[in-house]
Amino acid sequence: MNVYVIGAGSSGLTCAIVLARRGFKVYVIEQNNKIGKKLLLTGNGRCNYWNENQEITKYHSKDLDIFKIIYNNTKEEVLPFFQSIGIMPRINNGYYYPYSNQAISVVNALVNTAKNLNVKFITEEKVLNLKKTTKWEIITDKNKYLADKVVLAMGSKAYLKNDIYNGYELIKKLGHNLTSIYPALVPLIGDNNFLKDLAGVRSEVILNLYIDKQLKAQEFGEVQFTDRGISGICSFNLSGMINESIAKEKTVEIGINLVPWFKKNKEALIEFLDNQEQVLTNYTLSNILEGFLNYKIVNVILKKIKKDINTKWQEVNKEEVVNILMDFKIKVIGTKDYDNAQICRGGVVLKEINPYTMESLKVKDIYLVGELLDVDGVCGGYNLGFAWMSGIAAGKGIK
Ligand SMILES: Cc1cc2nc3c(=O)[nH]c(=O)nc-3n(C[C@H](O)[C@H](O)[C@H](O)COP(=O)(O)OP(=O)(O)OC[C@H]3O[C@@H](n4cnc5c(N)ncnc54)[C@H](O)[C@@H]3O)c2cc1C
Repeated sequence: MNVYVIGAGSSGLTCAIVLARRGFKVYVIEQNNKIGKKLLLTGNGRCNYWNENQEITKYHSKDLDIFKIIYNNTKEEVLPFFQSIGIMPRINNGYYYPYSNQAISVVNALVNTAKNLNVKFITEEKVLNLKKTTKWEIITDKNKYLADKVVLAMGSKAYLKNDIYNGYELIKKLGHNLTSIYPALVPLIGDNNFLKDLAGVRSEVILNLYIDKQLKAQEFGEVQFTDRGISGICSFNLSGMINESIAKEKTVEIGINLVPWFKKNKEALIEFLDNQEQVLTNYTLSNILEGFLNYKIVNVILKKIKKDINTKWQEVNKEEVVNILMDFKIKVIGTKDYDNAQICRGGVVLKEINPYTMESLKVKDIYLVGELLDVDGVCGGYNLGFAWMSGIAAGKGIK
């Protein structure tokens, strides 16, 4: 029995190895000349391939219950799989990287293991169509192949730059349905006159996400302000929900807590600033704020309250200043596009696959893995996590 895996990315390579170890004859078709092209870019070239802090809440899907079955059946197998291909981990606060700190080590380990198991790679061929005859006919831009089983591991349309993506089209032709697809883990675009003044600032903050004025999510971490918006992991983690909400014409605002280290309430912050003014003789408000904030942020606060650098803390509306410090509102009008997004939110509806085997419930002998499916995770190794888990599930499930 032969299996053709379409896509030599994280999920496809994992699946190919598990299948070849079980004795299947495996072929992998990849449109690029490079294997694992996206994998090489992950974790800034270091490949953050897993996270110790595994919780369902780190993942998102319209059918979380079905995702949970894949997760519970495979999550314990990921680290032994990495050990079996010779990758030693370097663990930083629960974030797993290869010990070499190089994504290429992971790609090479996957490719070497696959080749040693006699997996055949067919590169620079793009799959254009799949037809059911007695077997599955795979039609590429150069050849035709006959497969007993086909694994679709074509990823998503995120971060493709010049590649053209046809995965969704192929899957729809097979009768599958997709949820709405949005760019995710991507910088936010704001509508706020002060963004230009903040461009270049990096700051540790809490981001409060308000959808139709209701607080829906919070993220802590470093943001980078750009002249059009906000970047940084904590903003990326909110981007999927933001795009879904904007598509539903909801209003989206980010409230930035610029003083995340101050764990108390607004009244206590007023008291703290009162005290600072008393202790720091002759300090202006600007002098006080520069004790814990970037000067560009201080200038924006002064601009917002229409005061100058000589203004004293006692001369301002204290509540107004504290509201800005703890919840500086920026209207969000969207995010950057797919080419800037690490992943896509959405994909093939999970109800249309068997979560124990990853087989399509629409068409026999077709299996689906990886980002093509409606599962995404926050930053920190969770998206690769799902690629390995689903690849292992199909690798074990194909009979
Ligand atoms: C810049 C960046 C950094 C990231 N960093 C991290 C990180 O540190 N940790 C983490 O967990 N996740 C990270 N991700 C996300 C992660 O890379 C993806 O979620 C993961 O690679 C998805 O695996 P996959 O196998 O589904 O798809 P991919 O790895 O994208 O593989 C799909 C493969 O299919 C091929 N293909 C598609 N269509 C066809 C066709 N018609 N014919 C033939 N071949 C085809 C593609 O060329 C590709 O090689 C990052 C993503 C990006 C863009």
